[in-house]
Formats: sequence, C-alpha cells, structure tokens
Amino acid sequence: MEPRKFTQFVAQLATLSTRQRMAIAQLLPLASRQENTAALIEAARAPRLACPRCSSVRLLRNGHAHGLQRYRCADCARSFNALTGTPLARLRHRGKWLPYLDSMLASHTVRGAAALVGVHKNTSFRWRHRFLAWAKNDRTLPLGGITEADETYLLESQKGSRRLDRPARRRGGVASRRGISREHMCILVARDRTGRTVDFVTGRAPLTRAQLHRCLPTVVAPDIVLVTDGHPAYPWFAREAGIVHRAVNLSAGVRVDGAWHVQNVNAYHSRIKEWLRQFHGVASRYLSNYLGWRWAVDGGRIGTAEVLLRSALGAVPV
Ligand SMILES: [Zn+2]
Repeated sequence: MEPRKFTQFVAQLATLSTRQRMAIAQLLPLASRQENTAALIEAARAPRLACPRCSSVRLLRNGHAHGLQRYRCADCARSFNALTGTPLARLRHRGKWLPYLDSMLASHTVRGAAALVGVHKNTSFRWRHRFLAWAKNDRTLPLGGITEADETYLLESQKGSRRLDRPARRRGGVASRRGISREHMCILVARDRTGRTVDFVTGRAPLTRAQLHRCLPTVVAPDIVLVTDGHPAYPWFAREAGIVHRAVNLSAGVRVDGAWHVQNVNAYHSRIKEWLRQFHGVASRYLSNYLGWRWAVDGGRIGTAEVLLRSALGAVPV
C-alpha cells in the first residue's frame, strides 16, 4: 500500500467499532503467521526443489499464488509450488499449522488439538496424519555398534473402520485367545547405544525371520553387534545376514550380561505403550505414524513446531 493511502487507512481505524477492531486484531497475527509459515516451507523445500513431473531442476519463477512462489518447469512446462508432491499439498489454514504442530509436540488428542487451534476435528485428524507421513521417516541411519532389537505386541485395532474382518471385541481390551496370535500387531524396534532408533510394524502374528530380513539390513551398519532375547528368529536371521549376534537368556533369568542386554529397547517399548494409552487405542493402519510421532517427542528430540514442519516436509536427511 502506498504511504499516502496507508496514512488514510490508519486514520480510518478510529472509526471502527470495538467488535470490528477486535476482528482485525485477530486477523493480523494469523496473517503474519501465514507469511512466516510460507517462508519456512520455501526454505525447507529449497534444496530439493525439482519438477514433480519430470524431476528437472531448470525452473522459472512464475508469480505467487496462495502466498507461495510458483515455478514453471523449463523442460515440461508443469507449474507447481514448494508443497506440490508433498503430503502437505493443498492443506488449508496455513496460519494454524505451527500452533497445530505445537499441539502435536504436546501429544494432544485429535479433539484437544482441534479445540486449541480452532479447526474441525476431522481436519485435526487429517492434519495429524499428513504431518506424520514424512516426519515418521526422519531417522538418523544407519544404526551402529551394539544394537538392541526386540519385538512387542499390541492388540490389533480396526478403530474407525466401517467393516471389521473379525467379530467385535466387547469393550476393547482383551484377546480371545492366550498368547500372541493374529489378533496382535507386532512392533519391531531396534536401538543402538547412541539412541538412534528405528521401528517397524511387521504385521499381525509373531515375528518371523523373513520379516527381520525385510526390516533390518537396510537400517543397520553391517558390522553391528545385534543383541536380542532368545527368540529363535534372530540367530537365524543374523547368521544368514552375516551379522554378529548375542542373545540374552531372559528365560533363564539373565537380564544383563555385561554390555549384552536389551534394556534400552525394552524401556523404549514401555514409553511407546504408556504414551499410546492417552489415545484410547489407535487404528493399526496408522500405527507406524504413531511410532514416528513417538520418536519425534521421545526425550524432546524435536523441540519446536518449526523443526517438526521441516521434518514433515522431508527436509531432514532420511
Ligand atoms: Zn518438468
């Protein structure tokens, strides 16, 4: 706005009613938060900005839309912005993203976050999982040195599904059979002694050696010492993968044998389960998102909404 017009505009403010003045007072911080968020998005995406259709990096600036720089691919003419092709594309109310991410760092429920930020609860649910889609992969790899691995189980949940593929459980809680069965989801966690952690939802029913082959080799250094309990799948896997393996004989009452124990990974399991309790059951199909969320907040690893936003945009090396 020109300086002269701005002076007139300010003079007009005096004629506003209290309610109108309040409405403007509420809009202003939202507008500056929106700009601030747009700047964060542009900065986070800048290093890997490329055409979403042909991956070309020959880009032309092509005006602004919705507060973001638009680009045109010099090779295929496709138009896009920094959010195109990310899980956050076309999410609205950008001025509320950072407060929402703050509420995620505080582990609020869907409804709690919705009320706090002023969005509908369905929006709150959608945002949570969009923000986690890439953030959950924000891990420092590979794990190295002494690496503990262990599996834990949660009762499988079809929360939110329209059709169950099994009879409903009365009041959640209890499996119909004893022991680990197809009613349980298996979570595999590996953690090295520097605290680097990865987790996998390996599916229903007990862990198998084939699942270990699918999960572990890509995330651990080849020279780790893998420490596990006595589950028979681990030594088989380690031998086939050429990894040094130590088993702690928990069934014989041995919990710690010098440096060989799985206490860190078991403590991590406990924190996951304790933390999940506040959500009153999470649908199994979203379980990996929750594990990523837990990793973000574990020990305050991600401290601010701005860092979580970068993580949600894949700006952190994976
Ligand atoms: Zn292109």
